Amino acid sequence: MKKGDYQAYKTQDGKKKTIHSRVGEKKYDYDKIPADFVIHHIDGDKNNNQYYNLILLHKKDHRRIHIVKSLVIKSVQPSKEKLKEKESE
Ligand SMILES: [Zn+2]
Repeated sequence: MKKGDYQAYKTQDGKKKTIHSRVGEKKYDYDKIPADFVIHHIDGDKNNNQYYNLILLHKKDHRRIHIVKSLVIKSVQPSKEKLKEKESE
């Protein structure tokens, strides 16, 4: 499994389906996730497909969450190299 890939399985009709979509459908009682909506992993762990970790979001909101998250991660975890650069400035 490549890093960043979602866990997936094959349905009875041979289609590939991700586990988090399936669990999300169950949680929200859908036969299929509605168009323009996605199931998001709250803790960012794509292998954590527990009910509590999955949330149904509109694609627009989903994109925003990932943008904000990447900003937060960058701001609280500067690389050691960058910190050294600052010290020597
Ligand atoms: Zn997401």
